[in-house]
This record gives sequence, C-alpha cells and structure tokens, in this order.
Amino acid sequence: MKLFTLLSLLIITTQIQAKNPKYIFFFIGDGMGLGQRSIAEIYKNAQNSDKPGSTPLRMSLLPTQGFVYTHSADSYITDSAAAGTAMAIGKKTFKGGVGVDVHSRASSISLAKLATKNGYKTGIITSVSIDHATPAVFYATDKSRKHYYNIAQQLSSSNIDYFGGGCANGSSKRNKKDRIDPTQLAKESGYTILQSKDEFYNFHDKTKKVWAMDDNCQKGADLPYVIDQKAGQRNLLSYVKKGIELVDNEKGFFFMIEGGKIDWASHANDGATLAREVIDFDDSIEYAYQFYLKHKRDTLIIVTADHETGGLGLGTTKHQYTLYPKTLIKQKISIAAFNNKIAKWKKSQVSFFDKLNEIKTLFGFDSLTKKEYARIRKSWLLTMNPKFQKQKKKLIYSRYEPLSDECIKIVSERTGIGWTTNSHTAITVPISSIGATATKDFSGYMDNTDIYHKLAQYLTK
Ligand SMILES: [Zn+2]
Repeated sequence: MKLFTLLSLLIITTQIQAKNPKYIFFFIGDGMGLGQRSIAEIYKNAQNSDKPGSTPLRMSLLPTQGFVYTHSADSYITDSAAAGTAMAIGKKTFKGGVGVDVHSRASSISLAKLATKNGYKTGIITSVSIDHATPAVFYATDKSRKHYYNIAQQLSSSNIDYFGGGCANGSSKRNKKDRIDPTQLAKESGYTILQSKDEFYNFHDKTKKVWAMDDNCQKGADLPYVIDQKAGQRNLLSYVKKGIELVDNEKGFFFMIEGGKIDWASHANDGATLAREVIDFDDSIEYAYQFYLKHKRDTLIIVTADHETGGLGLGTTKHQYTLYPKTLIKQKISIAAFNNKIAKWKKSQVSFFDKLNEIKTLFGFDSLTKKEYARIRKSWLLTMNPKFQKQKKKLIYSRYEPLSDECIKIVSERTGIGWTTNSHTAITVPISSIGATATKDFSGYMDNTDIYHKLAQYLTK
C-alpha cells in the first residue's frame, strides 16, 4: 500500500510539474519551413564531411516534432502579423493585424502579457526591428503592422522586462518632428537603454527593465545579416545570453525569440544568406537547450515558424538528383550588402571590367559559362546605365538591383535549389519541442492558434 501511495504521489507530482513549466522559450523562425531548415543542415554538412545527415541542427534533434497550419482569417497565405497574432493571442485575424481580432478589436492579451500578469519575467528578442510584426504582436496592438511609430510607442508601457536585438523602425527620425522618439519614451518609463558594446557587456542589474538594441542597426532597424557581420559584432545569440542573464529568476520566465531575417533572406531568394541565418538561430536554440539540461523538469522549448517564405525547393530539373551545396559556401556577401555596394559603385562611375573579378569573388564564381557571363553583363547594364531604367521597371525583379538578383539566381541554379516566389507560401511548417509537456501538447498536426491555448494554460497559474 505504502509503495502504491508513494508511486501515486510521484505520478501526481510529475503531472503537476508537467503542467506548468517555469521557463518557456518560444522560438519563431520567421519564414522557416522545412526547406529553410534543410538548406541550413546541408550547408553545415558541406562545411564538414559533406555526408548527408551528418550535422543536424539542434532543433531537428528535439524529441517532439509536429506540424502547424498557418493560414490567416482572410487567406491560405498568411503574413507575419496575422500568424504571429494567432500564436500570441490565439485568434485568427486579417493580414497586417497586430494583436487584434478580425474586427480590429484588441480583445485579448498576449502570451507575454499573460506571463507578466502571472508573475513571470518576460523577454522579447529579434534580429529585425523591435517594432516589426512578430515581436509587436507580443506587446502591442494595432490594426496595421505598418504603424511602426504607434507600435514602438507601446513598447514603453508594455512591462516586458527585456527587449533585445533590433532598434525601432518607428523612430522619430522617420516620423514627424513633433513626435517623441520611442527610445526616449522607453527611458521615461523606466527602461535602461543599452546600445554600445561597453554598455551592453558591463550591465548586470537584474532589477531594471532593459531595451538592449544593436549598435549596427541597418536601414530597417534590423541587425546585419550574419554573413555580413564582422568579428565582434553582436548576433541573436548575444541578445539571448544577456536576456537569460538579466531575466532568470526563481518564479520563471517567458521568452519569445525571433529569427526575423530568415524571412528576409527567403524573400530575396538568397540561399547562402538564409542558411547562415538559420544556423545562427539554431545556435540560440542550442543555448536554450543547455539551459534545459540544467533545469529539465521546469523548462519547455518550442521552435516553430509563422509561415514558409520563398517556396524553397531543394532539387531542380536541371540538376535532377544532385545538389551542389558547396556553391553556397563560396558566397561571401548577402544580396542586401551587395546592393549597398552597387549604390557606391554607381556614385564612383566604375566600369563592368573594373568590377567583374570582385563580383566573381563575392559570389564564388571561379569561372563563368558564356551564358552566365552574358546574363551578368546584361544585368550590369540594366543596373548601372540610366538609359535602361524604363526597361528595368518592366522586368519582374525583387526590390534589389537586377545585378544582385542575377548573381543570386546563378548561385541558386548552380546549387540546384529553386524558389516559387518572392513572398510567403501556404505550406504547413514544422514545430519542434522538448520539455515535460512537449510530447503531449506539441506533437502531430495543429493550428497556429492551438500553440497559444497550450502555452496559455501553463502561464495561468
Ligand atoms: Zn515575410
């Protein structure tokens, strides 16, 4: 009898512990479908033994795997605002809606706010701007994701303990002069702003609310792509480490960590840049996994995506059953940074023959076929010569220069990967997890709103 009672107690205790993890890591790889995860693994393989399956990502090794339907209320193909809203408040909404229902009502509080309300500390980390759709749905509400200023303003009253990564897209520099900068508002509301490296690495005060923003924010208030980062620059992992240091406490925490530029690289159909972003994102998951190993009973890690971007396929008609991932490793620059380089070239009036070797080095083209050479030459003219501007506008290019697009296309073709779109797709996305409650709640197929409902029950103590 005594043994039976002890066993029953153990089972009940385990169930109680399984119901409420204290430490929750919610990772969202923006635009990260199976194609994005696969290309990162293949890239890692190619860097090492080149044996298929030899270097899995940490997220692939998590024991519980499932799939998520991503559609918004108004379309099979969602955007990050609607998909993020579904996961943050448990309600489907229209594309562009931030934390609001289909009637534009801010009728529910997000997982992060629910966590705060119930005594957890909270952190929101992203590699894109802090007022971008995915982080925004966890602390703000607005009928449009484009209202960056309004969203950034809500940061200061959010009571989130730690913001890390991006700067504010809705800063006053981009807005009317009479508006107060969101950074200033955050300061007035008690946030400590950390921007320089010294400020960031020397700060250890766990009692303060913090907004740690990057000192190399790009035009979109985002972190530079990993492929373009110089030694010593901060990446997503830097912000995750600091976040855990500052927010870790006895009562528990809720972190939302977004790999936002996985989506951007996929929009640009830039495979090499994408692979590096996913690997960087996975390094943060590995760090959370190490935390899990120290607090196994109390930690839950979930890794998923809001949608897939690009319609990435690994395999093309041209190369049939062969992939050439080493082609990706030879690329040394993102499409975005190359585009910036072109802008400088335009000002200095350089010639095609001055720059051909540099282009070849940056994209790893040891030699060019006649056709490839002709394509690069033509796209150079379209990019650099003002008399082709009309012709350029008629072509369906992304927001990048024809020369940038053409180089990226050649890399994809040589690798043997293909893209169906510069936008998002309707394909279901994977969800991977580990933790006491993971097996029960996050395996099999689920809707993106289910993720909210499952997490909300743990956060409501
Ligand atoms: Zn996107």
